[in-house]
Amino acid sequence: MENNEKGKSSRRSFLRNVGLGVGAISVAGVANAAIPGANDSAVKSGKTLKLLSPDGKLVEVDLSDIKPAKEIQAEVKSEAMKGLPNRKFVMVIDLSKCANARECVHACQEGHLLPKDHEWMKIYLLQDDNLTSKYWFPRPCFHCDKPMCVSVCPVGATFKRPDGIVLVDNQRCIGCKFCMTGCPYSARVFNWKDPEVEVPEGHVYDPETNIPAVEGTVGKCVFCADNLRKGVLPRCVQACPMGVLYFGDLLEDTVTNGVETVRFSKLMADRAGYRFKEDLGTLPSVYYLPPYNREFPVEMGLEGADESVSGRYKKAGPR
Ligand code: SF4
Repeated sequence: MENNEKGKSSRRSFLRNVGLGVGAISVAGVANAAIPGANDSAVKSGKTLKLLSPDGKLVEVDLSDIKPAKEIQAEVKSEAMKGLPNRKFVMVIDLSKCANARECVHACQEGHLLPKDHEWMKIYLLQDDNLTSKYWFPRPCFHCDKPMCVSVCPVGATFKRPDGIVLVDNQRCIGCKFCMTGCPYSARVFNWKDPEVEVPEGHVYDPETNIPAVEGTVGKCVFCADNLRKGVLPRCVQACPMGVLYFGDLLEDTVTNGVETVRFSKLMADRAGYRFKEDLGTLPSVYYLPPYNREFPVEMGLEGADESVSGRYKKAGPR
């Protein structure tokens, strides 16, 4: 492969290397009320307030450095709507390497505090024809450039950013499920119950993580937009032990699975890359490499699997 850069160390730092800035908005800390230092450029008032820092120390801050939680929430959401400048994120999934290890599924669930039956990344067992072989098919949200989910949402709760990412604001979502019906890839999950997860103290809701899920709203893969803001690869990409998932920037024509970094265009050309159900015209940001010369027998994906997982694949057949 052209531009090959072997080495695990690149797994976490690739996006930083290609120039993604660190712009994360830290919200851990003094209850939900304020972020000390959030307003450094303002003229100091001279009046101070004592607050408890995230690591348990008492700190004294100027009143001008304190913002009400409402303002912080508005800023977080505004950043989430804008996305990252001059980026067009893209994922490539190499089907020849997928052995249904399911580490991507678990990393996603842990990272987004999802219940076990919610899979933003789902692994299907596909077979295109009775005479052809089965293969594993990981399916995140495709972050379509023409997302049907966005066009049918009646309240603007789901939106597409200039950097290509499609998000859901679950504080705006009314749970009508139009987006679930509109998505041709079944990429969305309905939160029938409160997930009852413990969120960190001081946590401010951000559509970039969608934590916590809210009963009566819709969730889905967010391409780990919070990680991208920090220059870190999505959780699923980092977790895959087979190097199936590549992630990167279309504008830089570069993707990485954390072990090798390659030209996106060359990968597509050399490996006959394609988009799932291209004929629908949704223009997904996720591309696939066909499962030719598969590196593992498909049966390997069921070895040692729990019945709750293996059972779902028993009826797999031609789609
Ligand atoms: Fe929307 Fe479905 Fe496309 Fe994701 S895959 S952007 S949920 S239409």
